[in-house]
Order: sequence, then structure tokens, then C-alpha cells
Amino acid sequence: MKIRHAVALSVVAVLAFAGCDKVKKLNPFAKKATTPAPALATPAPAPKVAAATPPPAPAEPTPAPKPTIDKTAQVVVLCYHRLEGKAGGIYSIEPALFEKHMQELKDKGIAVISMQDFIAWRKGEKNIPPKSALVTIDDGYTCSLQVGAPILKKFGYPATFFVYLDFINKGGKSMSWAQLGELRDQGFEIGSHSVMHQNLNAGKPSKAKFATKDEWLADEIVHSKQLIEEQLGIRVSAFAYPFGNNNPKARELVQQAGYELAFTTYGQRVGHDASPLTIGRYDVTAKGPGGADGYTMAVGFQGPAAASGPVASQEAGAIMVTEPMNGATISDPKPTLRANLAGLGALDPGSVEVRVSGFGLVPANFDPASKVMSYAFQQPLRPGAVTVIVSGKAAGQKVETRWTFKYDPNAKDADGSVPTELPPRK
Ligand SMILES: [Zn+2]
Repeated sequence: MKIRHAVALSVVAVLAFAGCDKVKKLNPFAKKATTPAPALATPAPAPKVAAATPPPAPAEPTPAPKPTIDKTAQVVVLCYHRLEGKAGGIYSIEPALFEKHMQELKDKGIAVISMQDFIAWRKGEKNIPPKSALVTIDDGYTCSLQVGAPILKKFGYPATFFVYLDFINKGGKSMSWAQLGELRDQGFEIGSHSVMHQNLNAGKPSKAKFATKDEWLADEIVHSKQLIEEQLGIRVSAFAYPFGNNNPKARELVQQAGYELAFTTYGQRVGHDASPLTIGRYDVTAKGPGGADGYTMAVGFQGPAAASGPVASQEAGAIMVTEPMNGATISDPKPTLRANLAGLGALDPGSVEVRVSGFGLVPANFDPASKVMSYAFQQPLRPGAVTVIVSGKAAGQKVETRWTFKYDPNAKDADGSVPTELPPRK
């Protein structure tokens, strides 16, 4: 099953790139037609001994040599929402801070690459600098176009805007299709961020007009891609899960829909082999367990990577990336806990224990290969603060780390972006 999906995905990819090649190869011909040939003032003498020294073969359009791919390069994916208002607001940063972030990437020698460069690198078709970053801006606020785009252009940075259908053409601070067309025309990439911007791990929303949850998920993932492609005449390569939440059915639909990549909000450096279905992004406004914000953690290129060796254990507290993020407020009563424990050192897999306030010891999974601990709550959380304590043994020593988040059933900005940022409901 998995293999078949992978094959289908790469066939789509090959076709897409074949298309690109065609365009590239055609362009030189177009140029030749319009550029007058240089005047032949001194015609070259005809070769006299053609038979002895065959003329060099005509320069055929030889395929470009395969580039050397740096598979040790790493990519951090920055996730922004609103570029307006006060820094430190929920999912919003001041325009000046956004510009400072962009400048800092330059100063630190971090290359901002496009979504297509990222995809090409992973396929071995294009190299990228050792430290690269993707800039993504979610939800579709007008400030994306009015504030984000000019700053990005000033630095010559590509970026991807993830939009969800229910927030397009809604007036107020939502972008219209025409405005999305402007972003497209400026060379930016548009990705899908679903239809309704709901937690894909929760039940089917009552207002969704579908008989089953799977049908609803297909609408969120497959139909959103088709509609954006139709409206803007583009190919949508990437999906961003609302709130980063995903599940096996959602990931399967991402593959079926023909996306090349899908993004979470589980910030970690991305290596060459990271799963295309769960590419982590750093929410720049979220705070990590050590108090550092997502941007600082990302550009530090420290902490767990999707494919990296163990990190010194004393760093664990500061760099462990968790889901929900430390300090976050969520509205999902049954979230899935995740933490990359690479920072705790070479953990004995059997020693990992996870405790949750109000629950005690929970039967969490620990995958020794990825170092990721996960646990999906079966019982709903009680409203209030939730502390997660992870412990284990590494090299015979007990190691422990913890983080806290809050469950608020009425939270309107729960771990994502939306409801309060929608225009007033009518
Ligand atoms: Zn969002």
C-alpha cells in the first residue's frame, strides 16, 4: 500500500519536472528566433581534410549533469500567521520584527529557498546551501500581501502562503482570489491549508455537509487543492495541516491528492530523508520549553532534527520540541502528545515513561528510530494546565524533562490561528 503510494507520488513528480524541462529547453530556441545572427564578416574557410578530422559533433542539448546533492544540508521551516499589531500577540508579529527576522536570516548566512527548490533537493535534482530556510505564512490575511510580500521581495526571498477556502473572499482582513493572484504573479507559492481550518483529528464538524468523517477529510484535503488550482491556475504542491494535526487517513489523502509535501507545526530541522507527509515547521510566536521563541530555535539550527544523531543531554530542556508546544493553549480535548527525545541522549527504549498531570502514567509510544514519543489521549483532558513529564534512562542515568500546556475548551486561538482572527461572524 505504502509502496504504491510512493510510486504514484514520484510519477506525478517526474511528470511535473518533465514539464519544467520542456519550458527550459524551448526558451533558447525562442531567443534564437528573435536575436539576429552575427554578421559573417570573415567566413570561416571550408575544412580541407574533412575526412581526416571529423568536425566536432554539433552541440546537442545535452542533459544537465546531475548536481552534487548535499544530503547533510538542513532546512528549517518558519511558520508565520499575521504580520501586524504587537509582537507577542497571538500568532501575530509586528511588521518591523518580520523584517528583522528576514535580515537576520541573511546575516546568519541562512539561504531562503523556495518550496520547489526544497522539493527538488529532496529528489536529488538540485542542491541547496547547508543551512536553508523556507518561509511560510498561513491563513490568508491581507497583511500577507500588504506587509509580507514587499518585505520578502526586498530581500529577494521566495515564500509559500497557505490559505484555507473558508477564509478567502470573506472581506475584512481576508484575502480575495484576486489578491492571491497578485501573490502568484509576484512569484510566490500558494499552498492549501484545508477548507474549514478545523482539527483533522477531531470529529466531523456538525456544519460539514458530509455523511462520513472520511468524506469530510477528503473535502478538506483533496477538494481544497483542486479548487485553489482551478481558481489560480496553478499546481498546489504543499498542504499545511490546520494546527499541525494529522492522522493516518489525512496523510493517505495528502498522498492521493498528489501533494508533494505536508507540513505540521512540530518544529524541527528537516533533513534530506524526513517524511514528506509530516514536515515540521517552527511557529515563530510559540515559546519552547526554555523560553526561546520558535524563530530563535529555528535559526539556531539546534535541537532535534528529523534525521540527526543524539544531542547533548543537558540541552534537552531548552531544545526539546513538543506538541502541543510548551505554553500553548489548545481547544482539542484529546490531543496527541509528541516530543522528540533525541536531546535526552541514547535512551533505553524500554525505559521511557510519560506522565501527565491528572492522568498519571500513560501508555505512550516511543519510536527508537525517530526518537519521537507520542501518545493520543483516549479520555478528554480536564480544562486547565496540563504538565507532561517524560523520563527514561540514558547510559545508565535517569533523565527527565517536562513541559506544560493549557486545555481551554473555549480557547478561540487554540494552537493555531483561526477563529478569533476570522471576521466577525454574522
Ligand atoms: Zn492556520
